[in-house]
Amino acid sequence: MAYCRMCGSRLEWAEVDGRRRERCSCCGAVAYRNPAPVCLAMVEHRNGLVMIRRRVDPLVGYWAPPGGYVECGESLSDAVVREVAEECGLVVAVDRVLGVYSQADVNVVIVAYGARSLGGEPLAGDDALEVGLFGRGSVPRQTVPLAASALDRWFLSVINDATATWR
Ligand SMILES: [Zn+2]
Repeated sequence: MAYCRMCGSRLEWAEVDGRRRERCSCCGAVAYRNPAPVCLAMVEHRNGLVMIRRRVDPLVGYWAPPGGYVECGESLSDAVVREVAEECGLVVAVDRVLGVYSQADVNVVIVAYGARSLGGEPLAGDDALEVGLFGRGSVPRQTVPLAASALDRWFLSVINDATATWR
């Protein structure tokens, strides 16, 4: 059971603006569901691309660029700087947006950024099993897991696309 963020009463399904949405049974507030923005960082460090091996789902055990959810109180590029520091211990300058990825059955929007390391040594944070530095042509080719969810498949396609210029 879901409850209204405005008044705490129960939400019920209703037709709102031509679409089934949850609406408060008391105050009428509509509980819109929106995808959450996630940043992904293509960090260049000593002529290599920094990737982490993921400790958490989706794609646990896979190599991926560092990234994560944007929090209120920070911009997307602030989130890039924070996530890279947390996940692989590097200080970075954010360059530019490389791509934006979204899919109807996935509840996030991924914004991929290019960034350059300004200092630090790659060191795996809590969300990473290890950190790797991959020169041009050596970024790992990874296949879709056997029991892949829609999110797994999509996320791997985003990783492959965002790192394509390094392969
Ligand atoms: Zn309400």
